[in-house]
Amino acid sequence: MHYTGTIWRPPYEADSLILEATAGCTHRACKFCTLYDELPFKFKVSELPTMESDLLEAQAWFHDPLSKIETRLFGLPAPKHCRVFLAGANPFALKAKRLIEISDLIREYFPSCKTIGCFARVTDVASKTDDELAALREAGYTGLTIGIETGDDAALAFMNKGYAAQDIVAQCARLDAADIAYAFFYLAGISGKGRGIEGARLTTAACNQTRPSLIGANMLTIYKNSELYQEILDGNWEEETEIEKYQEIKALVEGLEIPVEFAMLGASNPVMLQGRLPEQRGQLLAALESIINDIGEYRLRSYRTNLRHL
Ligand code: SF4
Repeated sequence: MHYTGTIWRPPYEADSLILEATAGCTHRACKFCTLYDELPFKFKVSELPTMESDLLEAQAWFHDPLSKIETRLFGLPAPKHCRVFLAGANPFALKAKRLIEISDLIREYFPSCKTIGCFARVTDVASKTDDELAALREAGYTGLTIGIETGDDAALAFMNKGYAAQDIVAQCARLDAADIAYAFFYLAGISGKGRGIEGARLTTAACNQTRPSLIGANMLTIYKNSELYQEILDGNWEEETEIEKYQEIKALVEGLEIPVEFAMLGASNPVMLQGRLPEQRGQLLAALESIINDIGEYRLRSYRTNLRHL
């Protein structure tokens, strides 16, 4: 398989076939981000013949339920369809035509593949017409993971995310209209010291106008090679304490009025949590309260300081 650098995928794509469609990020300007720093280029698109050879190779170990001999010969129930996750920070930035060529290629080798997911930026959705979004859904694209990070416009602007809260709401409405499902990544701590609760409030205000299947919270972990670290040294920005980050997450969980799965599953989270809102709001809040009171700042900070890699 052709994989370039560290491959990042959401925790819930663990069973998906990871196929490299792009490497790096078209934006690569968020001040806190060091995810793709190891790459000598900003963004690269995989050639179709390279992807084809990966699909051919994957056939040997990632079985397509439709091609399973026991299913065909012995009438055993077919396992659920396979899903492909396109690697790269934002393969959804590719032109719709190219994304459809990729889905056609995937189907040639994995006929039972019904859905294709990838990371996407809000701006990648904005660059598609409504007709293109509908065609992409028809081609199997759904379950996009969008790192919105926050609905706090001041934080989005300071961190150079390249869009505002109203863009998140507007572009997600277009995904809803095209029936393309999506999940969000939220970044606790992005609003900075003393602003976490307000950041959570602004985020819930935006999220409550959208329909994500899941909101996954990650916690800001600042590395010395990030632009944000330099901003801190220059006295332009201050980091929240770990307890503040958890209070921010509590405010987020309290303020979400939409039915949604809430999860904290990535390595940036010292404690893994998952629950359904609104049904499990009480349990989630109790767990967050217990992290704040029972683990405390020192041990939470110690986890973060020792987190050498996300
Ligand atoms: S869009 Fe995502 S991958 Fe790209 S720089 Fe920002 S945080 Fe990093």
